[in-house]
Amino acid sequence: MAKGRVTVREEFCKSCGLCVEACPKKTLRIADHLNPKGHRPVEQFKPDDCVGCAMCARICPDVVLTVYKID
Ligand code: SF4
Ligand code: SF4
Repeated sequence: MAKGRVTVREEFCKSCGLCVEACPKKTLRIADHLNPKGHRPVEQFKPDDCVGCAMCARICPDVVLTVYKID
């Protein structure tokens, strides 16, 4: 199965949770720490389960997430 990784531009995340809900593999969560704007940013806590489908990046209204395909 395809593998992927997600990078997060933490400073732009507003903690809306849309990407967490959209991920079919449930690899994302809201982190405990705060970004400079006072929001808890998303983090990928189960990267090995990511399939690189990019549903998270497509649903994010603030273009916070970038998805990379890996072998
Ligand atoms: S690329 Fe797909 S599997 Fe990976 S975190 Fe985003 S929605 Fe989840
Ligand atoms: S959809 Fe975008 S703004 Fe909302 S929690 Fe996810 S990364 Fe942050």
